[in-house]
Amino acid sequence: MHCIQNYTPSTAMNKQFDFQSQKTPAYVYDLSLLDQTLKAIQTEASFYGYQIHYALKANNNALILERIANQGFGADCVSGNEITEAVKRGFSPQKIAFAGVGKTDEEINTALNHSIFSFNCESLPEIEIINELAKKKQQIAPIALRINPNVNANTHRYITTGLEENKFGINIWEIEGILERMSELKNVRLKGLHFHIGSQITDLDTFKNLCNRINLLQEDFYARQIIVEHINVGGGLGINYHQPDLETIPDFKSYFKIFHDFLALRPMQKLHFELGRSVVGQMGSLLSKVIYVKKASAKSFLIIDAAMTDLIRPALYQAYHKIENISSKSQETEKYDVVGPVCESADIFAKAVDLPVSKRGDFILIRSTGAYGQVMASNYNMRDNAQVVFID
Ligand SMILES: *Cc1c(COP(=O)(O)O)cnc(C)c1O
Repeated sequence: MHCIQNYTPSTAMNKQFDFQSQKTPAYVYDLSLLDQTLKAIQTEASFYGYQIHYALKANNNALILERIANQGFGADCVSGNEITEAVKRGFSPQKIAFAGVGKTDEEINTALNHSIFSFNCESLPEIEIINELAKKKQQIAPIALRINPNVNANTHRYITTGLEENKFGINIWEIEGILERMSELKNVRLKGLHFHIGSQITDLDTFKNLCNRINLLQEDFYARQIIVEHINVGGGLGINYHQPDLETIPDFKSYFKIFHDFLALRPMQKLHFELGRSVVGQMGSLLSKVIYVKKASAKSFLIIDAAMTDLIRPALYQAYHKIENISSKSQETEKYDVVGPVCESADIFAKAVDLPVSKRGDFILIRSTGAYGQVMASNYNMRDNAQVVFID
């Protein structure tokens, strides 16, 4: 049998966790790492008085949400159901921001009923509908304009959101017309400016560029005698997928310092962030078992019991996740294509990975799957949902 003492692949997972008896595939969530990460964020952010909203879409596991809400984080929601869930898990409605290009009437009403912090609006037609629905409830809805700052996030094209070619946000040339129209709308009030330029951003200079762009925009607003109450710079801070153990907690200190150093906030203006991946990415791993080792002429396939239905990021964005064999005792390595059982050629976790010589029954750990893993799961091929286990 495999032996747990030999199990030392990572700080994040180096716990007395009896993976041998664990049904696979399973999402393994390290709650103590989550707590340490939350603490690091709160410590670094409170230094500057920054407000953090957790982006629910990264991971909406109930226990995880409750832990995050308990630490006093706000929430960033992209659907009415996320708003309902956030409130249910203890997030204060006064700390909920609501983004999305296609908010339905029903979702807007849900948000109005909870008197949320901010509607982050992406078009004029949306603002007009919010005004109409708020009027029916005799409310004044707080609006932030999600502006497309045309900053290149230098990330995968499917997770870049701040360019004019993307569907997100209001373009700078549209702002004037929107402000004029908004001055006629009595049931919405401009409270903030919102930006979110993309995800998995690892070059902090990208955020410096964002700050510079916001500073210029604020000049324009100031010239119109508009000073909004808050600036929301969204999320996007990346994590180290290649060497998760070197950086189990992202460098929040440097991240917040960029904004402190380069963003010219007006007096009384509050700065808000919406972090998803950087909060929960590293605390999750996907545990799987080798079903078969299949030899081909030039290489070997490791066919495991996890699939793109449990973690779609490699198939969807060619994303890299570190893969470890945590039970093989072999001193020799071999190159494997690590694949799932689903009937799609895209159901590949990684190609030509060096792993210790592996065999049927070995345990495989796919790292850094806490964000955009379980939330994107499907039941394609009528597969069961993976298990969820917590280590603490
Ligand atoms: C997805 C999303 C986030 C979180 O992005 P991360 O890259 O996970 O930090 C924040 N704000 C908005 C509007 C989003 O859509």
